[in-house]
Amino acid sequence: MSESLEVHGVEKDDLTLPEPTPGHFRWWLLHHLQYTVGTDPEHASRFDWRMALSHTIRDRAMAPWFEATRRTWDEDRKRVYYLSMEFLIGRLLEDAAINLGLRDVAAEVLEGLGLDFSEIADDEPDAALGNGGLGRLAACFMESMATLGCPGYGYGLRYEHGLFKQGFDGGRQVEAPENWLVADNPWNFTRPESAYQVGLRGDVVEEDGRSVWRPRFQVLAAAHDTPVVGYRGRWANTLRLWAALPGAELFDLDRFNAGDFTAAAEPEAWARSLSRVLYPNDSTDRGKELRLTQEYFLTSASVQDILRRYLKGHDELRRLPEHVAIQMNDTHPAIAGPELVRLLVDEHGFDFAAAAELANRVLGYTNHTLLPEALERWSVDLMRKVLPRHLQIIERLDAHEVELHGPRPEGVGLIEHGQVKMGELAFLSSHRVNGVSALHSDLVRTELFPALDARHPGRIVNITNGVTPRRWIKLANPPLARLITDTIGEGWETDLDRLRELEGHVDDPSFREAFGRTKHLAKERFAGWLRSEHGVDVPVGALVDAQVKRIHEYKRQLLNILWTIAHWQRIKRDPGAGWVPRVKVFGGKAAPSYHVAKDIIRLVNDVGAVLNDDPETRDLLRVVYPPNYNVSMAEKLIPAADLSEQISTAGMEASGTGNMKFALNGALTIGTLDGANVEIREQVGPENFFLFGLTAEEVAVRRAEPDHARAAIEQSEPLRDVLQAIAEGTFSPEDPHRYGGLLDLLWNSDWFLVASDFAAYDAAQTEVDRVYRDPERWQRMAILNVARMGHFSSDRSIRQYMSEIWDIVPAL
Ligand SMILES: *Cc1c(COP(=O)(O)O)cnc(C)c1O
Repeated sequence: MSESLEVHGVEKDDLTLPEPTPGHFRWWLLHHLQYTVGTDPEHASRFDWRMALSHTIRDRAMAPWFEATRRTWDEDRKRVYYLSMEFLIGRLLEDAAINLGLRDVAAEVLEGLGLDFSEIADDEPDAALGNGGLGRLAACFMESMATLGCPGYGYGLRYEHGLFKQGFDGGRQVEAPENWLVADNPWNFTRPESAYQVGLRGDVVEEDGRSVWRPRFQVLAAAHDTPVVGYRGRWANTLRLWAALPGAELFDLDRFNAGDFTAAAEPEAWARSLSRVLYPNDSTDRGKELRLTQEYFLTSASVQDILRRYLKGHDELRRLPEHVAIQMNDTHPAIAGPELVRLLVDEHGFDFAAAAELANRVLGYTNHTLLPEALERWSVDLMRKVLPRHLQIIERLDAHEVELHGPRPEGVGLIEHGQVKMGELAFLSSHRVNGVSALHSDLVRTELFPALDARHPGRIVNITNGVTPRRWIKLANPPLARLITDTIGEGWETDLDRLRELEGHVDDPSFREAFGRTKHLAKERFAGWLRSEHGVDVPVGALVDAQVKRIHEYKRQLLNILWTIAHWQRIKRDPGAGWVPRVKVFGGKAAPSYHVAKDIIRLVNDVGAVLNDDPETRDLLRVVYPPNYNVSMAEKLIPAADLSEQISTAGMEASGTGNMKFALNGALTIGTLDGANVEIREQVGPENFFLFGLTAEEVAVRRAEPDHARAAIEQSEPLRDVLQAIAEGTFSPEDPHRYGGLLDLLWNSDWFLVASDFAAYDAAQTEVDRVYRDPERWQRMAILNVARMGHFSSDRSIRQYMSEIWDIVPAL
């Protein structure tokens, strides 16, 4: 740890940059190209220009960053710490440029140099430090906190390899390692002065009546900071990512000197593995020791950093809740409760009850799923081995809850069947527990934690997710952003409810026409990207129908592809029936060990190969599945979509945020009453939403009926024909039994009720076609979707967290 030195005579003005006029911006860009990147402009590559441009823009983030830090200290403001194992950030350059108001000047200067902004921005690798929705939410929240001036830190892990790169080989998913750090990362600031020892394993001994943990290993957590700038560059927060380094004692010098180099380096390699890879599972828990160790590593380093920062300005830890809020993004950092209690009791001399109460007032827990396979549980034996002191504290917390609130029914405690239940631990450690949509929060209350809710009434609240309009409109869809600004003026970017003003223009033919042009432009751009990146041609002008998200049985990509086959069969029977041309876009990755999801991917690709090659239908129906869905692909696809597929089995999607991005960009939703779909439909109006399917309550009833799938299949001729075509090998002639497993699941179990919802989905799709044939009506509906989506800005979500959980007032 290294202290800052005293300096004299440095004024704030000494550091101020001049106005970013084109002339100055050009000078500064060329300066960085030569003196930071070290390249002669004559020979600079796209990478060199991207580095120079990133530094030029990054420089402008420093003043708001320093100023926000200074104000937070000077005004002794409460800070929120957002702990998340995932941050699915995507690219940073253009986002920072937009938020700092430099996008246009940068583009102009580059154009003068014969360069293209987008081409250079597209050179940046995605920071894919997350799997899907949960990680992307953390990224949107960071941006909103900065925009609102909510003093906050994001804490995560600096994975060397983010989410794997997906490719297809004969239609099958293949995974390749992702290497976002191989080239320089201009957004990274290494902070060698902020490093913490994280202990692991070892024993707990009793000394003078106190428990003392003697860890067997120490791993060093080294901080890497990225500034997160808010819109209009008025505030910036820090995303702090921890890299794991071996502590000095891990290197076995004796062994090394004895010539056993590999063995000597082993513990070192083990330490580094803590931040080597992101676990690629989405909504499943693999229960591996490395994962638990990663979670503790993130949490311990962060909590130590939080206490250090607090103690720099205060000496009374009892007042911690007045200055610190910690939000746990799912159960992954749920060890934060025991860790905070441990530090307060073992290092700062608190008694247990006072420490537990303090931790509870500081912590909040966001639940993201009801899926039993996603609710983390760790075996007591593993916990005892890796975190022996924490296991003691968990047992103590469990007993303490009974002391305070009386005996409780079976199965409510923190430990059950030899496993520590992290959901219950996070619940008991926190003063607030929130679900992420109204429906989901109700289910958290009634299905997941009914007994705990009864013991702690009012603890569970709802905060519906949101997305940042800066990235998801302004950056992703500049023509739409311009049209909005031309129509209702500036300011909607930070006051998204103002989109309502667009409603007054919905009957204006010239506005409708302009709106249609933005969609058309986005479709052309997406088609151009498909052609140049993937060599795929699609008919422009077709209805773009998209389902992009992780591949999971509950999200029901299977329902979508089965319907696509049914539609193809119908077109073939009657090619001249005036069909609406459609492009079906699929995108998304499957966890490498999730075999059913991988079969679904292969089926989509096999079906695509047959359909796209069918001269009778190919102008009317196309299936595309560009590999490696990520944030950058989402930014290109979402503005182009007409139809957004949000078709999960009701009761299983906690919220969804993809649904919000699509509707905000004028796609109409075909969806079930699940997650935030319910609220989206309420906001945009039921007449502007294609609803279908069983409700969550009906799902529970139907599941209990024996042979529900067989009954549904027998009642639907189109579905029978589809299943028969698959069974006959229509899409896998060289291997007709390839999908025997999937078909068997469908006929005999169908937990996700694909068969039961097929007929309703088919009817809703028919309605989609009917409405699409009336372009004026469709356009109206799309405009009303955009106009009524203001509620789903992540600014609204963060304002709610600030007032309902964190008790923080924004600085702006
Ligand atoms: C928004 C987003 C998600 C979440 O999508 P859902 O449809 O809500 O599951 C996942 N991945 C990426 C890259 C995203 O941008």
